Amino acid sequence: MTHLTGISFFLRTLGCQMNENDSERIAGLLVAAGARKTERVEDAQVVIVNTCAVRGKSEDKLFSFLGRLSPLKRERGLVIGVAGCVAQLYRETLLAKKPDVDFVVGPDNYHRLTEILSQRLGEKKVATAWSREWNEDARRSLLRESPVSAYVTIMEGCDHFCAYCVVPYARGREKYRPVGAILDEVRGLVPAGYKEIQLLGQNVNSYRDPETGTSFPELLEQADKIPGVEWIRFITSNPRNFGREIAETMAASRHVCRQLHLPLQSGSSSILKKMKRGYGREEYLEKIALLRALMPEICLSTDIIVGFPGETEDEFRETLSILEDVEFANIFSFRYSPRPQTQAARLKDDVPFEVKRRRLLEVQELQKSIQTRIHRSFIGRTIRVLCLGRSKKDSRAYSGRSEGYQVVNFSAQEDVVNRFVSVRITDVGPYSLRGKIEETGPSPA
Ligand code: SAH
Ligand code: SF4
Repeated sequence: MTHLTGISFFLRTLGCQMNENDSERIAGLLVAAGARKTERVEDAQVVIVNTCAVRGKSEDKLFSFLGRLSPLKRERGLVIGVAGCVAQLYRETLLAKKPDVDFVVGPDNYHRLTEILSQRLGEKKVATAWSREWNEDARRSLLRESPVSAYVTIMEGCDHFCAYCVVPYARGREKYRPVGAILDEVRGLVPAGYKEIQLLGQNVNSYRDPETGTSFPELLEQADKIPGVEWIRFITSNPRNFGREIAETMAASRHVCRQLHLPLQSGSSSILKKMKRGYGREEYLEKIALLRALMPEICLSTDIIVGFPGETEDEFRETLSILEDVEFANIFSFRYSPRPQTQAARLKDDVPFEVKRRRLLEVQELQKSIQTRIHRSFIGRTIRVLCLGRSKKDSRAYSGRSEGYQVVNFSAQEDVVNRFVSVRITDVGPYSLRGKIEETGPSPA
């Protein structure tokens, strides 16, 4: 029995784009079984939290959210489910430790969600089997958040075991989606009005079709040929698996954006070695030089961890200097936190919290000045922007992304949401570009 007719559910998503895409899948499955999605916890009979385990802080968010749900559980018997990486990591222990939680379901078992929910609504506590196969069935009906920009998952899991990272334990080993299914999904998005496709995976560069062996650059090349797709992006690329072939495919393509997120983590070769990243500072810089030689206008972004066990002040300064050298258009920076089961969790977390905090601030201050400098060079230029929404404060203000994935806020006289527009940049801040619309593209189909 899998019918959920009349059941209302609220979905809270924590973490990365892959989790956002998984939530679209969860919502699609529940709606297909008759349930109704609500945007207010107060209106829901079921709440599902799709969790992230990658940093201590993301895990804390789950526990504080569960705390907020407790009174609703007591007052009206709210059903609470935990999905995603924290569920996969702690499994049944979560049910034992958090009595308010009614079911836990790992990322590879969403195809069983309607069945689990029916069982739970019949008063049984449920933890799923933790199987790891690829399951295409759960990918047929996604309830997408955006009508113009779509996530398409191409692989899951990771085989790398970087010393600090919980992903291989939470998501398992690499599993690849069949190339035919990926391309069919992309083809199906065009008539529905989608203009931007983001290919997702923990380590997209090592993608390989399970049957034909089609590689990631070959997949990009084929996606590039699908008529109607304007922008193709992909995330995440481990620098270790990012080779010349991918860079050349990007450069030769018509629709793959001149933009790349290439997580560095540290500017110090000795720390990178302890992190087991599989590349050093010089190799990373060589990849950046290659990318810029092939695509001078490319916008680069990265991830940085400060305060990895044993990180000295000199090693930290190497991170600051590489940020100066590369001039990333954007970075995501984090304080190291030990994660269960990882190799680094066995090392002494010996950089004091205050030092991590100060290093993080230094990274962010430096990056702020670099971004302001880069953004100033855009003043007076006209760039293509995909408008993704309207400002809540001002009805004539809109927001979108450039090809380089920069946030662009602009004013326009007519409604241009979900359309490509040309924006003349007049003003900038460290985190966004601002301007005025010059012309609009055609309306979405
Ligand atoms: N697959 C990507 C990273 C995915 S995790 C890669 O290979 O780079 C997303 C980011 O979270 C990482 O790039 C890293 O910067 C951060 N992160 C992961 N584990 C962390 C930890 N234990 N402490 C702090 N930051 C961490
Ligand atoms: Fe984690 Fe490293 Fe795999 Fe990225 S490549 S998901 S950081 S183990």
